[in-house]
Amino acid sequence: MRIAFIQDSGMNESAALLILSGLLKLGGHSTRLFIDHDERDLFGALRRFDPCLILVAIDIGGHHWGLGMASRVAHEMRAPLVVVGTYPTLELETVLGRPEFRYVIPGECDVAVPALVDALTSKTPDFGAVPGLHWRDIGGEWRRNALPPYLQDLDTLPAPDVSLFEPYPYLLQFGVRRFVSGRGCANRCSYCYNNDLSRRTRSQGRYVRRKSAAPFVAEIAASLSKYPAHHVHMGDDLFTHDPAWLRAFAPLYRRTVGVPFTCNATPMSLTSETVSLLAEAGCHGVAVGVESGDQVLRERILERPARDEDLRAGCERVRKSGILLAAFNMIAMPGETVDQALATIRLNRELGVQVPRINFTFPLRGTRLTDRAIEEGFLTKEEQAEIEREVTAGRFKLRPCFRSPDNALLERLFRVFQFSIMTGLGEFQIRQLIRSDLATRAIPFRMLMLYMERSFFRVQWLPGLQMYLHAGHPLGRTKNFNNFIP
Ligand code: SF4
Repeated sequence: MRIAFIQDSGMNESAALLILSGLLKLGGHSTRLFIDHDERDLFGALRRFDPCLILVAIDIGGHHWGLGMASRVAHEMRAPLVVVGTYPTLELETVLGRPEFRYVIPGECDVAVPALVDALTSKTPDFGAVPGLHWRDIGGEWRRNALPPYLQDLDTLPAPDVSLFEPYPYLLQFGVRRFVSGRGCANRCSYCYNNDLSRRTRSQGRYVRRKSAAPFVAEIAASLSKYPAHHVHMGDDLFTHDPAWLRAFAPLYRRTVGVPFTCNATPMSLTSETVSLLAEAGCHGVAVGVESGDQVLRERILERPARDEDLRAGCERVRKSGILLAAFNMIAMPGETVDQALATIRLNRELGVQVPRINFTFPLRGTRLTDRAIEEGFLTKEEQAEIEREVTAGRFKLRPCFRSPDNALLERLFRVFQFSIMTGLGEFQIRQLIRSDLATRAIPFRMLMLYMERSFFRVQWLPGLQMYLHAGHPLGRTKNFNNFIP
């Protein structure tokens, strides 16, 4: 059977989709990726491929494109459509409300999609036996199959099928490749989908899982021998939380792969041993969650356990080992003031952060942060619904989402956040700068962001430009926060 995957842009590469393609090929099927932005005539190309099943992954935040594309496929193509992704996982009822959809699979798809393909090829399809499938019966009513247990032994998965990128050479020429060793996150930050998803899927078994170090390293080595890259990014939410795993990984990776890599870490996990293992393995950069310079906001509002002293100790070890230090930061949290946001800039400087990242706090539905913000009056249900409508309609503009008298200033501080850290501007100068909307608009923060990310991921100029021309600014990436749902 021929299965077509449709993705919006080259920026939204999905590790889970590559695994799914590998699984389907093991079952004797053929797969082909279609990137909407890169196809002059997407539906013509789809018809020439003549798929037996079309899969559209809809991301939270990218659901404006995803819902529109899935709807067009349902109306214009004869092949059945299956809708997957973080949007149907977290907003299932909304997706089931669309009359044009017949097959929807929330959550991980390693079992469900191959089983759906088998059912579609059968003379007597039994859709009731496809784990996790939501499907319309002959009367048009939704039937909901129970979600399967989470796959526990990730070593049984095939290697990611990178050949899926072959129709789009710029993806293979980019020189930076992403690998993921595990699924799920052990933390439960109040603003993250992980706390909602892990709670809702408790009955499916252990949420945090990981491949063994040796097969993971072998997978990277085999993949790079076929599709070379000069940099690897470990896309795990947290890469350093298990020292025993790192002990097995570091010497093996150094010996058999040896390509510099970047990863994400919590400050507490950056012990002397962990950092020296990262250095031994050839780690080029670590991104740490700082989020807020105000410990009370960080601990009580964001529910991140990192104390200032943990951040200082972990980051100092990273810098001393010569590994590049990046930090995730948030601005415009419920109740945040300009003073508190300036504390975040101050802390990034103190920590010696070389690649500061900044995001507006977003009220994701179902998270404790959003629920509490509504209870405490920082957001009304109507405002949240309007934000969701804007995102769904593709007209959401980055901005503070929670009520605060400082919002206008916070919006300007967002634009000069990285500039202030990189140039060492004093707080008095920053306060002067953010008094003027015009002055902050003059700071090319998108370009600055690109420049810093380029150094973190060691992106070379020409392939980087090529990727940018095809896929746009990384700010448009909607696969940011999930590695295991296509
Ligand atoms: S924000 Fe990051 S560390 Fe926190 S739960 Fe989500 S993925 Fe894990």
